[in-house]
Amino acid sequence: MDGLPSAPLEKRHLHSCVDDNDCDYMRTFNEQQVMNVKAMWATWIVIAGIVFFLALWNVHQKSNRKACKKAAVVETESQIEDEKSSGIRRAISGIQSTGRRWLYPQSIFGIFPRVTRLQGATVIFVTIYSILFSFIGIAYGEWVNPTTPPGRRIGFLEFVGDRTGCLAFAFVPLVFTLSARDNIFSLITGISYQHLNFLHKWIGRFIFILTWVHTILWSIELGIMYQPQPYKYVSTWNKRYWKWGVGACALLTFLFLHSFRTVQRWTGYEFFRKSHEFIAVLFLGACWGHWPEMREWLIAGIAIVFFDRFVRYGRIFFIHMNWVSSEIGAFGFHPHSATLRRYEDSDGIVNLHLTINNTTVPYTAGQHFFLTFPSLSSFESHPFTTANAPSLSKPITKATPFNQEYIIRVLSGQTHRLAKLAPEVDTEYTIPVVLCGPYGNPATDLLDQSAEGKNFLFVSGGTGVSFTLPLMRTLLESEKSNKGRCINFVWAIRRIDNYAWFADEIKALLNSFPGRFKVRVFVTRDGNSSTSEVGSSSASSSGDDEKKVVVATEKKVFEEVNLKAGDASAHGVPKEVEVIYLGGRHPDMAKDIVGPFREQCIGNGIRVLGSGPPQMGEVLRKSVAAINVGGVNAGLYWDSREY
Ligand SMILES: Cc1cc2nc3c(=O)[nH]c(=O)nc-3n(C[C@H](O)[C@H](O)[C@H](O)COP(=O)(O)OP(=O)(O)OC[C@H]3O[C@@H](n4cnc5c(N)ncnc54)[C@H](O)[C@@H]3O)c2cc1C
Repeated sequence: MDGLPSAPLEKRHLHSCVDDNDCDYMRTFNEQQVMNVKAMWATWIVIAGIVFFLALWNVHQKSNRKACKKAAVVETESQIEDEKSSGIRRAISGIQSTGRRWLYPQSIFGIFPRVTRLQGATVIFVTIYSILFSFIGIAYGEWVNPTTPPGRRIGFLEFVGDRTGCLAFAFVPLVFTLSARDNIFSLITGISYQHLNFLHKWIGRFIFILTWVHTILWSIELGIMYQPQPYKYVSTWNKRYWKWGVGACALLTFLFLHSFRTVQRWTGYEFFRKSHEFIAVLFLGACWGHWPEMREWLIAGIAIVFFDRFVRYGRIFFIHMNWVSSEIGAFGFHPHSATLRRYEDSDGIVNLHLTINNTTVPYTAGQHFFLTFPSLSSFESHPFTTANAPSLSKPITKATPFNQEYIIRVLSGQTHRLAKLAPEVDTEYTIPVVLCGPYGNPATDLLDQSAEGKNFLFVSGGTGVSFTLPLMRTLLESEKSNKGRCINFVWAIRRIDNYAWFADEIKALLNSFPGRFKVRVFVTRDGNSSTSEVGSSSASSSGDDEKKVVVATEKKVFEEVNLKAGDASAHGVPKEVEVIYLGGRHPDMAKDIVGPFREQCIGNGIRVLGSGPPQMGEVLRKSVAAINVGGVNAGLYWDSREY
């Protein structure tokens, strides 16, 4: 090691030269190794910096909320005027509003239609970081291997190859953290785990790309540049690091390919989930075999997996363990007893209403639990959002248990098997349920009383209502009057039959909080429709010739029928609820929902909360972005149910 850089902490990453001939190469190699390790730690300093910034933002938001609560603000018209005159607040609000106008819509130049611009910007940031990380400070020299002339060592191939491998290792703890339900980032930043899933996918893709770049560069070096060939390449296949490296690459390729929705659909989601977790742990083992010097990054990954599982099973244990016998049950671990009811609409679409009795775990509106149905499988759990929440004045305790409600859309996996347990409509079936949670942002975070939260629009489609309805109840309960704000509740359902899911709850809210909110129900499939021929003409110019192109299209035109409550009353719809039948189309988010709401708003602060099918989220994002003009500051929280 004489003459080589001294770096006591990184000694195990360094190689020494055996004779004077290759000392120059080895010195460079060792310098590069030291730099690689430093760059890996620098990556984590960057990550820690971002998390720290988000944590500060989280604390700031929380203290803001507390201050607003203390002042018990329901702002009056004059206060709104005061706010308008506050220059700093207006400037901040203006920046927020502009940011939202640009960041809310999905898709970037029509590419990645499901990706928001904020998510897109994050991916671009990671891409730029990875490129800089891979190429900065590399020794781009060439060395002749004197022992086996004319063999060559190419700095670009070896050192970029090593650097990309190192970044892949540095990303390992990150990708595992972003996949965990109980993870430190969510705890610190307040960002719920499901919103980190997008980044988990992309960091996984970066690991895949970096690993393959590492593999290809080293394959060229060992298979072409080193001499004599093919002896050198063949002997490489007998080396431990090569065998484990090939194994790690194969496992990673499986994880990558299996993460695409189309492949998930072929194999089924549950198989994807279980195999993904299992193969990911095998991948960590293969990486250890490949390069044990990097073990700390893998140990971190393994620790995150086990911590997540430990907390998960701990939660389940404490939720279901009865420490003393009571009317809820005897001492010991017991699943909760639940009742299951089946709803079937005129299209034969099945939804289930699940009531879990006597739960004692506290949660707030908008949160979700992972439910396991032991009668079907003890090893499968699915996330569902609670469709009701405890009253603010009567929190859940051991002494005051609560019946949780869920509305479940039946798909083709576990929910399909669950529906088989409730074959008849209008019949209640009793089943055991094990729950784990709560997860997701607490309602108090979403219903803050700050400037942007003055007017509330709740928008949901189908079972997404389980997110919005309890949130609205919490909002209404949290203050005595609506002075200074407007609240609209919009629910899009396929058939008017679906209204029955929450008919009782909506009625109860209307009775408890009369005149304080407006309910609009859009029924997309029911209603009159007629068919007619429509001709349209359009003009187009090409060069000097102006051509008129007449396009005749056959369009199905649906007649929009607005029926007042009288017609829907047979389905339990009270007269206060406006029902709009669309006869075969989705509501126009901007014209039918966001626009009319904007006109009723008091002041410029708007908060939109929604959940439902992904396409609905996409148009809602666009519509909310579009109203962020002329001083309007409209925030949106979309509770994504997509993984
Ligand atoms: C935070 C959150 C809250 C949700 N709340 C509700 C709700 O209140 N009501 C409701 O009907 N649905 C809700 N869902 C969706 C629900 O979890 C899935 O529809 C359900 O798990 C499908 O089960 P399956 O085996 O029948 O699905 P399959 O037919 O096997 O798969 C259909 C799709 O469901 C999704 N899915 C399946 N299993 C899971 C899983 N374990 N975790 C996440 N997604 C999965 C996948 O996207 C898959 O492509 C929620 C999802 C999330 C992420």
